[in-house]
Amino acid sequence: MDVITVPLCMARVINATGVVLHTGLGRAVLPASVQKAMQDASGYVLLEVDQESGERGERIAPFSNLISTVTGAHAGLAVNNNAAAVLLALSALVAPGKVVIAHSHLVEIGGSFRLPEVFAQSGCQFVAVGAANIVRLEDYIEGLKQGAVAIFVAHHSNFWFQGEHEEPSLAELVCLAKNAGVPLLYDLGTGAMLDLSRWGIDVGMTVGGAVEMGADLVCFSGDKLFGGPQAGIVVGRKDLIDKLLHHPLYRSLRLGKNMLAGLCAMLEIYRAGEEKALVEIPTLAMLVEPSDKIKARVERLMMLLPLDITAQCRVAETTSKPGGGTLPQVELPGWAVAVRPQRINLRELAHRLRMGDPSVWGRLSGKDLWLDMRTVANGEVEELAGVLSKAIS
Ligand SMILES: *Cc1c(COP(=O)(O)O)cnc(C)c1O
Repeated sequence: MDVITVPLCMARVINATGVVLHTGLGRAVLPASVQKAMQDASGYVLLEVDQESGERGERIAPFSNLISTVTGAHAGLAVNNNAAAVLLALSALVAPGKVVIAHSHLVEIGGSFRLPEVFAQSGCQFVAVGAANIVRLEDYIEGLKQGAVAIFVAHHSNFWFQGEHEEPSLAELVCLAKNAGVPLLYDLGTGAMLDLSRWGIDVGMTVGGAVEMGADLVCFSGDKLFGGPQAGIVVGRKDLIDKLLHHPLYRSLRLGKNMLAGLCAMLEIYRAGEEKALVEIPTLAMLVEPSDKIKARVERLMMLLPLDITAQCRVAETTSKPGGGTLPQVELPGWAVAVRPQRINLRELAHRLRMGDPSVWGRLSGKDLWLDMRTVANGEVEELAGVLSKAIS
């Protein structure tokens, strides 16, 4: 009888691809305090009760309070992912009415999230205005005249414009929405909380920035630049958030106790300030890590390899990517070990590494397999050396 080997459910991976938010490998690496909070919430917890009165409470209340403090919004909620957040917002606030959106904002974020289809699924209609590259305020005004009851703005997460491109600023659209008496819904997607321009990384609009500018609702992913567990987070006006919470879909999309605990722990880190966030949130720490620190890990890996293997490896400069459909223009300069195996071919080496314990994922390029050390933690270097030595010998 054949022995069927069943892969371990979600075996651990060393991500040497250099893609910080690798969707295939689980996007954000969670901070230690978040992992602990999620584990601590595994037994009985104060989930939907009020400790003082003993009455039934609302599970989202602690999260809502914390996210309001951190982002400056009036209220907030969280659901399973950002796709769910957008679906919920459209279902609760627009359907069966119309929403106005620029043609240039009708985006697709990874196969199954295509805005026109999400609109259809939520039961709302849309009025697409402007041209593929250019949309003006007058176009939105025209769309509103056709009976739209909301303005929808989608962040260009996974692509950028080159050449002729124009659109009204968020401030202009907020002003238009206010005058027309309709809400402005902003799908910010990537959900950057901090401005990283000091490190040469342009994250575009931050969550706090969008709230401050007056977007009525802002939704974003928990596991992209926010750096937490998979979730969709919505912040904004309290009356709108309440409508979302009272919509029947919310019940189908709501989060469990571990996830809520994890998100609250994330917000505690952000509340403690930028400095702490940049150290404790691995996604952010990896994005801003200076390349000499990465080079030190490359050199340590080389030192740990047996001599005959070192001969097949070279230290090389490389660029890593934020990934996860975020910041497509950003390239982060760093260092990698480029491996050129002599006894086996490249594909065989990649296969052996993937089948290792832990499973190691690198990047094939030309005649080499690149192990980008930006996304490999200090504590993983020794293990990586072990898996590589075994695979190549
Ligand atoms: C990533 C993204 C989504 C989907 O978010 P998930 O959390 O992956 O469901 C939706 N809209 C935008 C603009 C995004 O960047």
